[in-house]
Amino acid sequence: MADPNCIFCKIVAGDIPSEKIYEDEHVFAFMDISPLSQGHCLIIPKEHAVTLHETSNEVLSKVLPVASRIVKAMGISTYNLLQNNGEIAHQAVMHAHFHIIPRRNTGEGLGISWQTKEGVDQKTIADAIRSKF
Ligand code: 5GP
Ligand code: ZN
Repeated sequence: MADPNCIFCKIVAGDIPSEKIYEDEHVFAFMDISPLSQGHCLIIPKEHAVTLHETSNEVLSKVLPVASRIVKAMGISTYNLLQNNGEIAHQAVMHAHFHIIPRRNTGEGLGISWQTKEGVDQKTIADAIRSKF
């Protein structure tokens, strides 16, 4: 179901124009309006869901092959596939989406700063996840 207030649902419906790359029954891909690098584009499930985990697995399984095809069509081999969930994680548009951000040199586009956290008990967390799978 589309959300009438959602920008990306409006793009899928053609109510807001976009530079469309690809569309099939479940997936829509288009160029990002404010690119971080040449070729920055977005791949979205057509069904409206805010986050990855709220999107159906059936549709999710259709998204990554499209991402791979777009990368090959662009002829790039260095890129980030970025998927933000929630405001704290820098999600601005509340319709699940995947960014492809080409990286042609280290200074271009996306800045990533890894700040490792001390004292995290990875085994306990892994046990908790495994117990709920
Ligand atoms: P987020 O931070 O939510 O992961 O990224 C949302 C992305 O959507 C941003 O890169 C932004 O430039 C892009 N975006 C927002 N509104 C529009 C729009 O109306 N058209 C297009 N093509 N991209 C948009
Ligand atoms: Zn939507």
